[in-house]
Amino acid sequence: MNKTINIGVVGVGHLGKHHVRHFSKIKDVNLVGLFDIDEEESKKVSLEYKTKSFRSLKDILKVVDAVSIVTPTSTHKAVAEMCLKKGKHVFIEKPITKTISEAEELLRLSKKYNKIIQVGHIERFNSALLPLKDFNIQPRYIEVQRLAPYMLRGTDIPVVLDLMIHDIDLVLSIINSPVKNIEASGVSIMTESVDIANARIHFKNGSVANITSSRVAKDKVRKIKLFQQDLYITIDFLIGLTEVYRVMEANETDSSAIISAPLEAEGKHRQIFYEKPKIEKQDALEMELRNFIESVQGISKPIVDGRAGKLALEVAMQIQNKILEGLK
Ligand code: NAD
Repeated sequence: MNKTINIGVVGVGHLGKHHVRHFSKIKDVNLVGLFDIDEEESKKVSLEYKTKSFRSLKDILKVVDAVSIVTPTSTHKAVAEMCLKKGKHVFIEKPITKTISEAEELLRLSKKYNKIIQVGHIERFNSALLPLKDFNIQPRYIEVQRLAPYMLRGTDIPVVLDLMIHDIDLVLSIINSPVKNIEASGVSIMTESVDIANARIHFKNGSVANITSSRVAKDKVRKIKLFQQDLYITIDFLIGLTEVYRVMEANETDSSAIISAPLEAEGKHRQIFYEKPKIEKQDALEMELRNFIESVQGISKPIVDGRAGKLALEVAMQIQNKILEGLK
């Protein structure tokens, strides 16, 4: 039998409420309670989920094994530091921290106290990515778009740290090579910081990722396209649709394909197959929080650990700095 994990949620704003909702249902979890500096909100959410509202971080830390930190990014370091020093495992919403030195300090504490840090790069748990494991993915070029209508939430940090960091983490998890150099540009529209950004990341193995993120869009878009020799995969994260185009020899067949067409190029007769892999939809946040619980139980490892969170932040910071240089 697996150990029951006593969990506390710190910060129950927009996203924290969803953490509470999932933890109130996940197997092997005892949701001990929550803490938010907004006492009224904390009490309201605790009543809804029949759990306890604690009056301070210090108090909740006395009774938990692990904590989910869902406070604004500028507070992640201070909250996580206190949790780790009290010997608690932490799930930290993305981005891990606001600065690299803060992330380094948390990694140091995690090692010192032998406690887990998992970071909330939720897109890694999107079920639309699951079909990728059936292909030998080695993209030479990745195109990513993440556009969102303007909202006040998240504007305490530039769009690169708020939205683009999801795709930076995703791209770093797909392309197995160090970053060689980065070109980036961006502009401020609704806030004083950068609201629209584009980055072109060149990797040492020759692969390139072109990422565009905006928080000034009419409609939401979250798409990734992967290109490599004889393979093109496009994923729409919002609707959970993955489409695969494969080029094969004229005498080959693809039993998963729903359409095929002849392809004449460079004097060769080949075929192009179109597949739409069936995806069993899963709730990404639930999967992510389960991964955390199983990691605390010692039966799994965080898919996005503190080091991955810090790496994504480092690349995001390089992008942000390039953008600021260009705006001077
Ligand atoms: P929010 O402003 O809606 O909620 C934050 C809550 O934290 C508020 O209720 C606030 O009172 C509370 N709070 C602030 N400082 C605190 C402290 N020191 N101790 C306890 N409570 C404190 O913000 P949100 O949109 O829920 O975002 C929270 C975090 O989640 C941010 O880091 C954000 O980047 C991240 N986020 C991640 C995703 C994702 O897709 N993974 C989506 C949205 C937000």
